[in-house]
Amino acid sequence: MLYGGVEAGGTKFVCAVGDRQGRILAERRFPTTTPEETLSQVVAFFRHASEAYGLKFSAVGVVSFGPADVDPESPNYGEIGATPKEGWEGTNIAAFVHRALRLPVVFDTDVNGAVWGEARWGAAQGLRTVLYITVGTGVGGGAIVEGNLLHGLRHPEMGHLIVPHDRVRDPFAGICPFHGDCLEGLASGTALALRWGRPAEDLPSEHPAWSLEAHYLALAVTSYILTLAPQRIIIGGGVMRQPILLPLIRAKVPRLLGGYCPLTPMERYLVPPTLGDRAGVLGAIALAIDAAKRR
Ligand code: ZN
Repeated sequence: MLYGGVEAGGTKFVCAVGDRQGRILAERRFPTTTPEETLSQVVAFFRHASEAYGLKFSAVGVVSFGPADVDPESPNYGEIGATPKEGWEGTNIAAFVHRALRLPVVFDTDVNGAVWGEARWGAAQGLRTVLYITVGTGVGGGAIVEGNLLHGLRHPEMGHLIVPHDRVRDPFAGICPFHGDCLEGLASGTALALRWGRPAEDLPSEHPAWSLEAHYLALAVTSYILTLAPQRIIIGGGVMRQPILLPLIRAKVPRLLGGYCPLTPMERYLVPPTLGDRAGVLGAIALAIDAAKRR
């Protein structure tokens, strides 16, 4: 039996075919263009894979950029909400894939997918309460609480956390269209590029950008620790590729906590994803495996 995984992103879609052990048998990436074109490519990929392996799919997991309807009881389950990504608002990704492939489709956020993948095969194995944060074009967080993915009122929007903003130290107004200077508005890759006039990957490690970036991310991590009490936090995304950033955050968080929370050594508490940029698509495959088991 095969399991399909899709990570739907604002710039690209990652599709993979996996087995029960999370081994990836085939993988393709498509640029995100129009819903019709991109989703047709997704469906064609799975049809070809099924023919190539002579095997049937049990289920497909889709994890997606948001906001999105992740409530399985909702008539709009799988639908993208108010996104600035042109043409995608109101697109129901799960329904499209389900209709085309006639398979059970399970749907969740990209960050919930990533934390689910890391819990199954990566840096969070054996833990029951875990947080995954991504710092890339945007900022987002997904969580497992007591063994279950955290949903609630639609789904958490941890990237939009309001953080203290010292306008003397950092006069940048922020780029979030909803809140201006929320965490995503101040610390996303998009914010970094606008504030400093060049993309994050072009900012050298000695640039003052990184101390400020670590400051905002440490503030957020501290709030997440105090709110969710995760046993481990995994932090990934394109901005985290700057090697100086993770040690800077690890140094700041205990100071902000003031010795209040008993953390394991920060090197084991705040960690990069073991599954790298495949965490999301592997999480989607893990969700598909779970969905097939339930049937
Ligand atoms: Zn915001």
